[in-house]
Amino acid sequence: MKIVIDKKSGFCFGVINAIGKAEEVLARVGHLYCLGDIVHNEAEVAHLQSLGMETITRDTFFKLSNCEVLIRAHGEPPETYEYAAKHNITLIDATCPVVLQLQKRVKTAWKNLMTENGQLVFFGKPGHAETVGINGQIGNNAIIVQKTEDLEKIDFSKPVEVFSQTTMPLKQFNDLTGQILERAADKDKVTIRDTICRQVTNRGPHLKIFASQFDVVIFVAGKKSSNGIVLYQVCKSVNPRTYPVEGAAELRAEWFSDVDSVGICGATSTPFWLMEKVADSISRDFSKP
Ligand code: SF4
Repeated sequence: MKIVIDKKSGFCFGVINAIGKAEEVLARVGHLYCLGDIVHNEAEVAHLQSLGMETITRDTFFKLSNCEVLIRAHGEPPETYEYAAKHNITLIDATCPVVLQLQKRVKTAWKNLMTENGQLVFFGKPGHAETVGINGQIGNNAIIVQKTEDLEKIDFSKPVEVFSQTTMPLKQFNDLTGQILERAADKDKVTIRDTICRQVTNRGPHLKIFASQFDVVIFVAGKKSSNGIVLYQVCKSVNPRTYPVEGAAELRAEWFSDVDSVGICGATSTPFWLMEKVADSISRDFSKP
């Protein structure tokens, strides 16, 4: 059986940077708090926990003092930085530069929109760390939309500026912004900012080609990974025999009967070592003799 791991799958530079910073501190002091899962991948989180990383919730963070805390690639709202400054918390800030740039753009846009009674619309998941971090930049005044029904929250007689969470699907963004333009009283007062990260969108076309070359595709990603869901669907659209797994333990023998080739790929939050483990397991346990 031919088993190929997609060389372009695996951590994006934002996640590589965050994990690198965490490993640096852990090697130095053997302990580090991380505000939320450093990456939406349980296997990588477990690995870093074994080195001394402790994942904490926002509730726990706001009770801490005199320690070091890592801010992951998704970023944080200003209140996190304010609390840290008052409570002698050293922040190891691993906010991805792409997210940081988006936070700045949203802040600037909101300042201008306020002068013309406009609305800032954010295409993102409510409660997702990146959305919380972005919305916090503008006093939680963004209108968060994810689907058509959410557009009812917009006043179409007023100016609108739309941004997107970096890991949302481009097609859905184009659909929703198309509807916003159609419903706007004055199209000239609608500004669309496609701020979806190209680390995610660029992988789509590549994965379409990759996934179509194999009898079976195993897509490795954490169930909580936003871009994992998007990229899995891309693979599934060209190869119906695409199966999502979080790790080797979820592989099933029936997927590999009558199979000559298997492609293994994953999300921007999938560690390469995990795809290698999956490949080893397929080769050892499910490959034809
Ligand atoms: S997907 Fe893009 S924005 Fe998100 S962490 Fe990776 S590089 Fe940064």
